[in-house]
Amino acid sequence: MDNTSRSHSLVYLLPELWRTLRTRRITVRFPFGPLELPSYFRGRVTVDPALCNGCGLCVRDCPAAALELERESRDEFRLIFYCDRCAFCGQCEAVCRTGAIVLTNEFAPAAADRNALREEFSKPS
Ligand code: SF4
Ligand code: SF4
Repeated sequence: MDNTSRSHSLVYLLPELWRTLRTRRITVRFPFGPLELPSYFRGRVTVDPALCNGCGLCVRDCPAAALELERESRDEFRLIFYCDRCAFCGQCEAVCRTGAIVLTNEFAPAAADRNALREEFSKPS
């Protein structure tokens, strides 16, 4: 880089640097500080078994096969959520007619064992 190019670079760089120093920080301190998530953040899926009627619409529409419905009888069933497969698309929440399944604003947890990411929601008897 010759001296002319270097001085041209500084002409563009210095105002940008000055502007950056004067504006508020836009990076986050996570994990060293709290993380503010937007209201539309789609995190870990949870199910309220009391509201779930076992219709299976969420299982049918899940594009990632992250949900399974195991039925013992008409009224006894459990919904199983595989967090490691979930794409956090929100389709299950959109299709559920009872509001039983929702995406929370929690981060999906990390785990070395995939079985630790399996969650079961059973209808209370
Ligand atoms: S969570 Fe909703 S869509 Fe899924 S089985 Fe239960 S009631 Fe049906
Ligand atoms: S958020 Fe999407 S991928 Fe995850 S369980 Fe619901 S439908 Fe399946």
